[in-house]
Amino acid sequence: MSELKGANFIERPINKSEVFIPEEFTEEQLMIKEMVIDFCEKEIQEPITKRGRELYATNEEDLKEIVKLLEKSAELGLCGVAIDEKLGGMNLDFNTGLIFSEAIAAGFSFATTIGAQTSIGSLPIVYYGTDAQKEKYLPGVASGAIKAAYALTEPSAGSDANSGKSKATLSPDGKNYILNGQKMWITNGGFADIFIVFAKIDDDKNLSAFIVEKAFGGVTLGAEEKKLGIKGSSTVQVFFNDCNVPVENLLSERGKGFKIALNILNSGRIKLAAGTTGGSKFAITKSIKYALEREQFGKAIANFGAIKHKLAEMATKTFTTDSAVYRTGRNIDLKTEEFIKAGISSSEAKLKALREFAIECAILKVKGSDNSDYCVDEALQIHGGMGYSVETGIEMGYRDARITRIYEGTNEINRLLSVAELGKRAVISKELNLKKAGKKIPGQLIKKMLPFGKENDFEIIENMKSIFLLLLDATGRKYKAELEHEQEIVLNLSNLLAETFVAESAFLRVQKLKDKQDFDKEKLAVMKAMVKINIYNALAIVRNSSKEIIDTYATGFEKRKMFYLIKLLTKKYDINPTILRRKIADYVIKNKEYCF
Ligand SMILES: Cc1cc2nc3c(=O)[nH]c(=O)nc-3n(C[C@H](O)[C@H](O)[C@H](O)COP(=O)(O)OP(=O)(O)OC[C@H]3O[C@@H](n4cnc5c(N)ncnc54)[C@H](O)[C@@H]3O)c2cc1C
Repeated sequence: MSELKGANFIERPINKSEVFIPEEFTEEQLMIKEMVIDFCEKEIQEPITKRGRELYATNEEDLKEIVKLLEKSAELGLCGVAIDEKLGGMNLDFNTGLIFSEAIAAGFSFATTIGAQTSIGSLPIVYYGTDAQKEKYLPGVASGAIKAAYALTEPSAGSDANSGKSKATLSPDGKNYILNGQKMWITNGGFADIFIVFAKIDDDKNLSAFIVEKAFGGVTLGAEEKKLGIKGSSTVQVFFNDCNVPVENLLSERGKGFKIALNILNSGRIKLAAGTTGGSKFAITKSIKYALEREQFGKAIANFGAIKHKLAEMATKTFTTDSAVYRTGRNIDLKTEEFIKAGISSSEAKLKALREFAIECAILKVKGSDNSDYCVDEALQIHGGMGYSVETGIEMGYRDARITRIYEGTNEINRLLSVAELGKRAVISKELNLKKAGKKIPGQLIKKMLPFGKENDFEIIENMKSIFLLLLDATGRKYKAELEHEQEIVLNLSNLLAETFVAESAFLRVQKLKDKQDFDKEKLAVMKAMVKINIYNALAIVRNSSKEIIDTYATGFEKRKMFYLIKLLTKKYDINPTILRRKIADYVIKNKEYCF
């Protein structure tokens, strides 16, 4: 097997040749993006403007519209992005699937609807289905004739998804599972024909997964939820009362449901991250346009430093997350190819590749959703009172974005998970060799003690990795297996991990672009500025999170020693943030859009 390994960025410096950058997308991939955005503009954005309001799933007529939209999108092939061509799909590679997720964000809450159809509602069949199950359901999902939903959450089982009470028992004749239970927050539930339902067979410890057709009977729906945002997306409770599910509709094996749920979430998380970057780019472009139009004190507000600061920060956070999303997406594709070459089936290979990059997927889910919330909030602020009005659509974006920090695993759960998974790979499975990685730290420290030497971005990023390793090691030694219960520490560690990964991704993107002779020099300079601003911001987070960790676990000499080490490793980063932010803002303002 190759060097391509999940979370290996924390073990060693990564070379620019090892990462994919968005500038490497092909014409064909970019055409898919354009086609999806075009669909969203014509079928979703323009009708919203005409109607003067978004669609409400709570309104019966609107719900029919939402179903029609899904069918229209299927006519363009959009419901079959992950489905095999021979079953009527497009079978896009994973990274192109991420472009699709980014582009469909232009459809606002429809992104959630089509996301449930193409991702959580049908991927369990794509990845785990038997040939017969695939042939029976996937052509319908791709054509839009079958609408799909994913039913994991229950009233008493949210983050703790494996604790669900739904039960399946084998019928006396052994032909059916009799399913009983209550599911909650089910996207597309109001019109779905099939549900991927997770339930425990008899008194099993772990969930099993089933493909349940509404037509089986015994399926009833609650009323559409009245939600803060994504109002154009159907969300209901689903009740199963003695629903007869044929035994052949068990997905994979008995007791494997939780594993399926987790693996599907890995894919959902990075797709969500791609979607949030799409939403963020949209919010930035809208903000730039407004800032150029709106005049106060005799000039366009785009001229004010306060507004430039916001635009630069929004662009930087989005650029850096974007870099990390597609870097990971391509790695998932490469790992899949590697597994296939090793003789593993295509579905299994995709799953194993996703599992390999589960840490990155969790980090990106958090970074992407935090960023889109940040961007819509700042977009609203840039619009002033108009942002608060329904008229501009910004308030809808503000409400819609908020869900992304909750579903596909809350951000707290994903942050905890990223560190816990890394710990497992270092201590239990030994896939990562963090001890070896830590050996470079004394050398870095000595270098830092010397009075000369210019700080560079590469070194700073490597130092951030060392800080994470030092603090993981120190807290691991102190708390051992109990570390997972010290959530405040783990959450701070997750900040260090996430900042490092994203900072490195953006840095490597720019390093790679430097080699492209024909790449626009002005744009490259702005990208470099974004890398620096991002590191500048990341260092503030690193310093703060490290301080919290040290103040919590250490006392006396250990405390003084650790503070000294962190200070050395984050000693100086001498930039002028205002000049750099203005440079970034001036560039996007000149281009009148997010243009990276
Ligand atoms: C609009 C919408 C659509 C959805 N669509 C679907 C769908 O299609 N299918 C589906 O199955 N589900 C769906 N969900 C459910 C969603 O995945 C859950 O809401 C989410 O996983 C959180 O579960 P919960 O709401 O029960 O929150 P809880 O688990 O009760 O969490 C409440 C708070 O406690 C924190 N918390 C919980 N456990 C821990 C812990 N161990 N450590 C630290 N903090 C913790 C959480 O981070 C959160 O802040 C949807 C939800 C919404 C709102």
